[in-house]
Amino acid sequence: RTRNGHEPEFIQAVQEVAETVIPYIVKNEIYNEKNILLRMVEPERLISFRVAWYDDQGKIHVNRGYRIQMNSAIGPYKGGLRFHPTVNASILKFLAFEQVFKNSLTTLPMGGGKGGSDFDPKGKSDDEVMRFCHAFMLELNRHIGPNTDVPAGDIGVGSREIGFLFGMYKKIRNEFTGVLTGKGRSWGGSLIRPEATGYGTVYFAQSMMQTKGMDFEGKNVTISGSGNVAQFAAEKALHLGAKVLTLSDSQGYIYDKDGVDEEKLAYVMDLKNNKRGRISEYADKYSSATFHKGGTPWDVKCDIALPCATQNELDGEHAKVLVKNGCICVAEGANMPSTPEAIHEFHEAKVLFAPGKASNAGGVATSGLEMSQNSLRISWTREEVDERLRKIMSDIHESCVAYGMEKDGYCNYVKGANIAGFVKVADAMLAQGVI
Ligand code: NDP
Repeated sequence: RTRNGHEPEFIQAVQEVAETVIPYIVKNEIYNEKNILLRMVEPERLISFRVAWYDDQGKIHVNRGYRIQMNSAIGPYKGGLRFHPTVNASILKFLAFEQVFKNSLTTLPMGGGKGGSDFDPKGKSDDEVMRFCHAFMLELNRHIGPNTDVPAGDIGVGSREIGFLFGMYKKIRNEFTGVLTGKGRSWGGSLIRPEATGYGTVYFAQSMMQTKGMDFEGKNVTISGSGNVAQFAAEKALHLGAKVLTLSDSQGYIYDKDGVDEEKLAYVMDLKNNKRGRISEYADKYSSATFHKGGTPWDVKCDIALPCATQNELDGEHAKVLVKNGCICVAEGANMPSTPEAIHEFHEAKVLFAPGKASNAGGVATSGLEMSQNSLRISWTREEVDERLRKIMSDIHESCVAYGMEKDGYCNYVKGANIAGFVKVADAMLAQGVI
């Protein structure tokens, strides 16, 4: 805390892990003796660099770029790049720390990292985004590689940005390798990768519901966000027969009393991915929907809530309303969207609650599958990748239950995910000595 006192998000993420892992460490003295947790909270490497680029008017801008290489005990660093004005070292360190546990849970050999920039792609032309991405990769390329560190997308970094980043890496290094994931289908990308985080979140929630003999059929689902994760969480929930009532963006949320069906979802995908529009436009188009400026969708009555936008978007008060309205299950599609107060409310009320590091691990797991396909120079079918994704999500669920089941039959998925993720990385660190 003394060393990182100015990094609130990072402290929040570490505290959540420490609260559940320390009691476990106390019972397994070797982790304490070798100071494993203290070593895990210190990034192996933190890179910060200048990114200078020209806008369309010929004006020069300067942004800050980062890559946090958090832990490589079980594989090359792996984790997304985020382009958003709020990006800073604290946010990226929290994300990189969470990534270490998440990647460990996937059962695939991937260490943890995260990176990005305070660059805001909103309102920029394609050419400006390209020049920024090229300038960013001009520095980043020397720190990454298919066996060293394999970045991917995150908020503000989608297929367009990955394309520009990959193009520059290939030009500088004169090699075509799987150095980034989330690539286009025709140049090394994996089928199902765009869908994987959203689908995986719903698969995980499905496993949680099944422990109570329930499923998605006929359930009311509220979703926040309308980006990559939210779109495909909505799609899978629809496939499973649920009614999706809400979507949101940073300006507010829409509530559709008739539900967001396949056709309306296709409209949202086009609006957000191609036209880069606002979710408020949905309510202009569909009379069954209302737009709620500045709000979050958590006061809408639902059975299942899937927060898929950003960190700390669901607080203790929101959680109380969800509980009061009879919500049964909350699975995080975003990273750390629920505050500690919210998680406390869910646990008190025995609501099924999955932390992002477990429920949204499908994205990075499928990135791991993309890395395998790139190394083998083969391409699996949609069905093959989806089947592996389902199996991984079900295995993560089992690991959480193995470490998180309480005496009263309530599963504490936070504890389960933290301990299961910790053990694998900690054991690798023990084996590799003090480095
Ligand atoms: P996108 O950029 O595609 O979408 C982000 C969505 O969240 C947008 O609707 C955006 O609205 C909204 N949003 C962003 N910031 C805020 C805010 N401060 N308040 C309210 N809404 C906000 O990102 P992704 O869908 O890829 O990522 C969403 C979350 O999922 C993040 O936490 C990310 O770390 C996590 N995640 C993503 C993975 C992936 O594979 N993509 C993998 C694992 C986790 P607007 O358009 O107005 O900005």
